[in-house]
Amino acid sequence: MRPSVIVKSPQDWKLPPHLADYAAQRAAFTWDQARSQLDGLPGGGLNIAHEAVDRHGQGPRRDQVALRWLGKNGQIEDYSYADLMALTHRFANVLQTLGVAKGEGVFVLAGRIPELYVAVLGSLKHGSVACPLFSAFGPEPIATRLKLGEGKVLVTTEILYRRKVAGLHGQLPHLKHVLLVREGSGPQPVGTLDLAQIMDHVGDAATPAATVAEDMALLHFTSGTTGAPKGAIHVHEAVVAHHATGKYALDLHAEDVFWCTADPGWVTGTSYGIIAPLLHGVTSIIDEADFDAERWYRILEEQQVSVWYTAPTAIRMLMKAGPELAGKHRFPKLRFVASVGEPLNPEAVWWGKETLGLPIHDNWWQTETGGIMIANTPALDIKPGSMGKPLPGVDACILERREDGSTRLVEEPNVEGELALKRGWPSMFRGYLHQEERYRKCFSGDWYLTGDLAKRDEDGYFWFVGRADDVIKSAGHLIGPFEVESALMEHPAVAEAGVIGKPDPVVGETVKAFVSLKPGHAADDALNLELLGFARKRLGAAVAPKEIAFLATLPRTRSGKIMRRLLKARELGLPEGDLSTLESGA
Ligand code: AMP
Repeated sequence: MRPSVIVKSPQDWKLPPHLADYAAQRAAFTWDQARSQLDGLPGGGLNIAHEAVDRHGQGPRRDQVALRWLGKNGQIEDYSYADLMALTHRFANVLQTLGVAKGEGVFVLAGRIPELYVAVLGSLKHGSVACPLFSAFGPEPIATRLKLGEGKVLVTTEILYRRKVAGLHGQLPHLKHVLLVREGSGPQPVGTLDLAQIMDHVGDAATPAATVAEDMALLHFTSGTTGAPKGAIHVHEAVVAHHATGKYALDLHAEDVFWCTADPGWVTGTSYGIIAPLLHGVTSIIDEADFDAERWYRILEEQQVSVWYTAPTAIRMLMKAGPELAGKHRFPKLRFVASVGEPLNPEAVWWGKETLGLPIHDNWWQTETGGIMIANTPALDIKPGSMGKPLPGVDACILERREDGSTRLVEEPNVEGELALKRGWPSMFRGYLHQEERYRKCFSGDWYLTGDLAKRDEDGYFWFVGRADDVIKSAGHLIGPFEVESALMEHPAVAEAGVIGKPDPVVGETVKAFVSLKPGHAADDALNLELLGFARKRLGAAVAPKEIAFLATLPRTRSGKIMRRLLKARELGLPEGDLSTLESGA
């Protein structure tokens, strides 16, 4: 039997970890001291792109490879810190030339191509607000987010534009400029500009906008149980946490080759796929291609990745690909592996140790926290299945919500409650754009309520229990059931729709929809297929349901809300729980 703790010892370290003594360093830590490790701008300002790019681009690391891009067709492109500085200067100048003002939204809808990284960092440098969108979204989630975020500029590729955006133009009154990464030699689509051409026409000298710590920098959309997606506002001050967590949770050292497999369309892919590695002056690998087990092992080996940040779904897919494939590769440079986004089963932690030679270090955070909050750090013993302990500067606790809405701090170990964090860490979101009331509801006094249920054990390790709400985590992507239900309801045959996450051994959960039909429509296979295709076209493959079931009626509460929990319990054959609010007959 495997032991319940993986004991760490200094012999395991290839480099002395930044957080070698958890208790002592945590006790001595202050955010002011963390802030002092960054440059800042003259006059007291702060700018993420300055810290991530220009600081190195004009310093001793200027010729170091900042980004190594691996194209899906085998191309490799290296960008030094000096190159990245010049390119992001240019992009900032493009925004300036177009008359984009500080604080306005620059959305980027692209696969993992170099232009995405240049556009995000260039927008930060310019002082506008960067919002990367997941390229697998369909037209509806794209339109919803562009509208809510009042996107003024959209950077996208020609193919994505033609497939997903061209039809939306009339619905987006704020959108003034579409900058295209051209992919063909045909005519430039009407109403768009050629990004490469306009980058060539501006200079590569620029000074970062005079942003200050509390200026808005990034907008990341996330989903709740109900209503529209929420645009979580992040400010330039977040860079202090990106730097500190890159140091303590990922143990980044300047000589590292780091690979974060997350897409920048999700917060991990921005905080740790773009910003944190550059802050530490490392070489960051970007792979354009989708998951492929052979390719991933090859990248780890050939690129000599030393620190790897990935996700449980990917690890389970590698496990599924079998030991033979893994056995064809060697990873002598790899020294730290971490994972985030979904529960990491103990099996996967051990698989890392047995296959890669290193256990996987689970860590926890979410869009709203902007950076890693709870982590298994290099020197800390691992209890497989646990998310680890709060990082220096982070106070986490378990709160019990009482019937009257008040909360109680749970002191006893191993008692389930809502995971909460004490306000005050630099990358905490500063609001949901235009949704003040939803933001306010996230707090109980000084505590931010995360929406996750968890427990803390007698040694201070946190254990994930589940979500307190109905959002779905599929392949690490957070999906709001309401967005899926709304798309299905647009089909003329659908009377009502209820959407749940159905447990899946590889991707965590898959999206399953239950629909009832309007009179005159037959619940047959043809309609089922049509609805699957309809949802996929609107929402995109990452969000659309994989399965649809027809029901005569959907269970609702007396106040009319669809009881997703009951749908889920019935789907899984679990006890139906308290049905006192169920409308009779459902
Ligand atoms: P997102 O805001 O899309 O990054 O999703 C954040 C949510 O993912 C959290 O609130 C959790 O529900 C889940 N999550 C993130 N990390 C972990 C983890 N290590 N273990 C379990 N769930 C996690």
